[in-house]
Amino acid sequence: MEYFAAQNLKESWGKKPCDHPVIEKEYYNGAFLINFVCTQCGKEFTIAQKLEMEETSKSVISSNK
Ligand SMILES: [Zn+2]
Repeated sequence: MEYFAAQNLKESWGKKPCDHPVIEKEYYNGAFLINFVCTQCGKEFTIAQKLEMEETSKSVISSNK
C-alpha cells in the first residue's frame, strides 16, 4: 500500500477499533519502506511489531486447543 493511501485511510478510519485483519508492506514512490500497514485502518507497524502480532495470534490459536 502506498504511504499516502495509508495516511488517507488512517484519517478516514479515525479512532475506531480495528483488529488489523490484513497487514501489507508500505511503500513510497514504488520503493518499499521498512514498515507494514493495516489495509483496513491504515495503522503502521514495524517488522518487529508485525512478527510479535503473528506470534501472539499463533499462541492464542494453540492455547484454544
Ligand atoms: Zn487495522
